[in-house]
Amino acid sequence: MQYLSTRDFGKKVSAAQAIAQGICQDGGLFVPQEIPKLSSHDLEQMQKCSYVERAQKVLSLFLTDFSEKEIADCVQAAYTEKKFPGGPAQLSALQEQDCSMYLLELWHGPTCAFKDMALQVLPHLLTKSCQKIHTDKTAVILVATSGDTGKAALEGFKDVPGTKILVFYPQNGVSPMQKRQMVTQEGENVAVCAIEGNFDDAQTGVKKIFINTDMCQKLAKNGMMFSSANSINLGRLLPQIIYYISAYCDLMVNGKIQDRQEVNVAVPTGNFGNILAAYYAKQMGLPIKKLICASNANNVLTEFLRTGCYNRNRAFYTTISPSMDILISSNLERMLSTLTGSDEQVKNWMQELSQTGTYQVNDDVMQKLKNIFWAGFCDDQKTKEEIHTLYQEENYLCDPHTAVAVNVYKQYVSKTGDASTPTIIASTASPYKFADSVLQAIGGSAASDDDFAKIQELATVTGTPIPQPIQALRSKTVRFANCCRPDEMFSKTLKLIGADS
Ligand SMILES: *Cc1c(COP(=O)(O)O)cnc(C)c1O
Repeated sequence: MQYLSTRDFGKKVSAAQAIAQGICQDGGLFVPQEIPKLSSHDLEQMQKCSYVERAQKVLSLFLTDFSEKEIADCVQAAYTEKKFPGGPAQLSALQEQDCSMYLLELWHGPTCAFKDMALQVLPHLLTKSCQKIHTDKTAVILVATSGDTGKAALEGFKDVPGTKILVFYPQNGVSPMQKRQMVTQEGENVAVCAIEGNFDDAQTGVKKIFINTDMCQKLAKNGMMFSSANSINLGRLLPQIIYYISAYCDLMVNGKIQDRQEVNVAVPTGNFGNILAAYYAKQMGLPIKKLICASNANNVLTEFLRTGCYNRNRAFYTTISPSMDILISSNLERMLSTLTGSDEQVKNWMQELSQTGTYQVNDDVMQKLKNIFWAGFCDDQKTKEEIHTLYQEENYLCDPHTAVAVNVYKQYVSKTGDASTPTIIASTASPYKFADSVLQAIGGSAASDDDFAKIQELATVTGTPIPQPIQALRSKTVRFANCCRPDEMFSKTLKLIGADS
């Protein structure tokens, strides 16, 4: 299996090269030459397997230049009971009126967000990839985060030999707990820096640094090379396919669905990575009827999937689901690549996007998108109401991102009448990461404005346990107070990774 740039199909590289490199030099993203298929027999076999074994099977179809042992080593190190108490991908069934909703809880890992599902395995895939391409350079992982990726990447890469990691986050764009998680990060090879700007500023800055020849040369001189842990890295995307397939297997095992029965999948979406992974699972042969793309008030994707016009020239909202506060959804490029089969076309649209902030896809692509996706959005008020409703009616406590997906799924049911298709809803973060908004939504109030008072109150009111990684933050000291403007990111990067000599 080879991987191609979305903007130039002429360049083909191995999976190891794609993972080590992160992004293509032409600014495009690596996509598989073709999406491998899972047979009915494979799906049946996988029912009997553990999560780790399912992960091995799925990754082996994509990482054809890795040995079975190498893949096994990576996934066994990642998905341990210690890191994911109770299992990495847990299903909670909710029955409301006639709908069958299954919340796929992907946040039982070390940082309490679904990003752990990929970022616990990526460092292993990356260090193996570097060995395979015979580089002895230190891999410098540069990350732009809207909140959860940063911490999950720091935790995944801390003290991994042969790597350094630097995370940029929007100064006022993350929750207090998310910020605290990052600035208290332990490890000798880590650094964290705030940006005076929003997530798109951080992401654009990081992308510019990656493809800047001058920067790359400075790193090379210091025995380093850039790599990426953002969802533009193939090594982030592939592990996310696993849990959709695994959830389907679990529903079969538990007799909730029949053999080959169709399900819907609803995903709270920001950078389009998680939902793209679900699309890849569908392409592999998983019987998915509709992919329901849920956005918050930053509804650029809702508009795009409804009209075919992508337009980032709009107000940017800071919401209570900050990990979805994004106007440039990078992974959409991969989707367009699959749908058009044209590097030229994608390159032109991406050029238009960067020059004018907008592009319009043709009717053919629009038709395909309509068949695959249903899109909707939900503002903060509705999000809080949804958290409240789920808690009151189902005794289920969810975070704001997950609530957006549940609300949009309900909109889908009421608009289409499709209540009968069982639906897997990606639950992407622990409610304790967003204790403030969640507490408000369920009508609780804390004695003081202290973040930990809110967490304690949430636990007391709901009788749910505080996840250990959040509880542990209390006693950790702040290690990072860096902050810079977007135009200072180049020099800041060189300084913080020690390549400014
Ligand atoms: C990152 C994130 C999302 C959005 O996922 P994308 O892959 O960027 O679409 C949704 N919810 C939470 C909690 C996240 O951390």
